[in-house]
Formats: sequence, structure tokens, C-alpha cells
Amino acid sequence: MSVKQKYKDVQAAINAACKRVGRDPELIHIIAVTKYVSIERAREAVDAGVVHLGENRPEEAMAKHDALGRIATWHYIGNLQSKKVKKIIHAYDYIHSLDRLSLAKEIHKRTGESSKVKCFVQVNVSGESSKSGLTPGETLPFIQKLADYPSIEVVGLMTMAPLTDNKEVLRETFKSLRELKDTITAKKFAHAPCKELSMGMSNDFEIAVEEGATFVRVGSSLVGHDKEVRA
Ligand SMILES: *Cc1c(COP(=O)(O)O)cnc(C)c1O
Repeated sequence: MSVKQKYKDVQAAINAACKRVGRDPELIHIIAVTKYVSIERAREAVDAGVVHLGENRPEEAMAKHDALGRIATWHYIGNLQSKKVKKIIHAYDYIHSLDRLSLAKEIHKRTGESSKVKCFVQVNVSGESSKSGLTPGETLPFIQKLADYPSIEVVGLMTMAPLTDNKEVLRETFKSLRELKDTITAKKFAHAPCKELSMGMSNDFEIAVEEGATFVRVGSSLVGHDKEVRA
């Protein structure tokens, strides 16, 4: 199936999920996660109308960015080592994996006083040891400390749900992230408007949309899956 058709299918599924819960589909941004596919396939996605692309490894992220340029909005969705920040920071529009102060410090250092980097704070809602991210309890104090790094704008929270088909577990995970986000939004921090929710992947994006996602990160179901990559 073409990327174009798959993109229509994902959009239709999002529209249906929005309808079930009375949300406006315009508020949901689809990030095509291209980490499993070639540059050509990523270009096909853009030609099909995709505007957000997501990558999770610095080298591949820059290869895709350099080949395709500013035709898309770029999302860095993977673990980010501090030493790799300088490589991607001027090319990528959003960082979805801010999870420690040392990383915040490096992002700030590489950005410069006058500009802002849109960051999601990654939360490990389910508490699985294999996943990165802060615990829900650590998240608010962490965000308060980010005020020390003025280039960082906390646009929202991001999570990865557990690998399970149990819909209730998935729903609870997304709901918890939304509640945490609402708590932070209510604080009205100047550096952390925190209005967005980056949650939902191929397996679970419809539930994520029902629970308030504003950015879904869809790889396999949208652009396919041609190669293995480390998480
Ligand atoms: C790979 C990845 C995705 C997309 O995964 P699919 O299951 O293929 O949709 C989304 N988010 C993150 C952080 C990823 O690493």
C-alpha cells in the first residue's frame, strides 16, 4: 500500500477517534516516524502531504534532514546523548526526549540566548525499567528547574506506552500523562506552557487521541518498516 493511502487511513482513524470523544482533528499533528525506512520513503511521505517527520538516532536524523531540508518540521524522538546535541540542535525543531538537567544544560549552551528550542519532557508513566523518562512524581520539580535554562521552552509532555495489547493499560497510561500535563499547565510557568501531549504510536494512537494526544508518532503503520533500529 502506498504511503499516500496509509496516510489517509491514519487520518481517517484519527478523525473517527476525535468524533468518539468530541475533539477537533485539527489539533492533532501526525509525525511520520521514518527511522525504519529510507530517505526515498521519507520523501514519499512528504509528497503525500505529511508535514512532520520524526527520527531517533542522530546520524540518521541528520542524513534525512540534510537530504530533505526544510520541507518538513523535524522531531527528534529518541534518547539524546549530550555530546550529540550540537549535531542536531540547529536542524531539529522539536526534541521529544528531554529527561535530565545535564541535557537541558547542553541544549541551552548550544542554542544561544535569543532563541528557543521546543522540548517535550519525557515521562515514564508505566515505570518500566527499560524505558527512559522521569517518573510522574519527578516531573513537576524537574520542569521548575528548567527555568534556569532560558532557551528551553517546555511545550508539553511525551510518553511511550508499555508494549501491550491491553487497551485499559494503554488508556490509563495516556490518561495519567494528560492529568500530569493539566497540573503543569495550570501553574502557568512562563518557560513551560506545557499544552501539548506527544503520545501514541502505530499500535495505540487511536486510544492516545481519545485521551488527548496532540502529537502522535506513527512509524510502521504509516511509512512501513524496512529495517531494524536500536531504540
Ligand atoms: C519508533 C518510535 C515510534 C514509532 O513506532 P511505530 O510503532 O513504528 O509507530 C514512536 N515513538 C518513538 C519514541 C519511537 O522510538
